[in-house]
Amino acid sequence: MPELPEVETVRRGLAPVMEGRRILGARNNRPDLRFPFPEKFAERLTGTVIDHLERRAKYLLAHLSSGETLLMHLGMSGRFTIEAPNEAARDMAAFVYAPGGNPKHDHAVFDMEGGARVIFNDPRRFGFMALFATNAMADQSFLSGLGPEPLGNEFSPAHLDAALAGKKSPIKMALLDQRIVAGLGNIYVCEALWRAGISPRRMASSIPGKRSARLVPHIRDVLSEAIEAGGTTLRDFAATDGALGYFQHSFAVYGRENEICRADASHGPVQRIVQSGRSTFFCPSCQR
Ligand SMILES: [Zn+2]
Repeated sequence: MPELPEVETVRRGLAPVMEGRRILGARNNRPDLRFPFPEKFAERLTGTVIDHLERRAKYLLAHLSSGETLLMHLGMSGRFTIEAPNEAARDMAAFVYAPGGNPKHDHAVFDMEGGARVIFNDPRRFGFMALFATNAMADQSFLSGLGPEPLGNEFSPAHLDAALAGKKSPIKMALLDQRIVAGLGNIYVCEALWRAGISPRRMASSIPGKRSARLVPHIRDVLSEAIEAGGTTLRDFAATDGALGYFQHSFAVYGRENEICRADASHGPVQRIVQSGRSTFFCPSCQR
């Protein structure tokens, strides 16, 4: 499932062919994904210019010259393919992302000024798109309750201190709460807690102070490194199976149950526990 760094990588891949460019044609190939496609999808998009392509949490937001914003979510298995029919369009695309998805799962198509065709392919159809007036963005249920971006200035130890004060849930669960910080998912929470030496079982209310001062930069670093690695991985992957690029070679704990801790081979193996139905990976020696 794509997390923030993967969505940011997708945004960076799409920006050169979409940002500042007119949508010459748009269509949806079925009425719905997780939710119905917006009414008059093609009509409302065709002819408008994508002024700015932004990411907020795990949402892609295309702000349009028509005064509307197109929100896109990748769900579990959604991905974008860029078809570049000529050399000029290929040069505009930083990479051709995830080519060769099964065409029967191509659910939305955007023909862009400049010649690129952007295709949204989603076999499991947990992804979705929404279209609303940009000036009513704050009222959208998808966006209204979100906490600050983890890579933005608003996300600071002071913010985390205030958000965690008195919270009686494990820190792992608190960091997955999108109202506290937006877009953090299971993988990067596990990795950041390991880097910060904080047990995922520790009560959230015990984090403010020294621990949150330690945690915030680690959250930023692990996400930034994954975004940097994402672009590289995607290029490599696109040549082979078209899968979404992940930061997997750099994981210290995630998915490494029973393997030795990367910090110190004398630590016991990495352990997996289940918290609120989701796997947590951690090193009991490194993380207290
Ligand atoms: Zn360790």
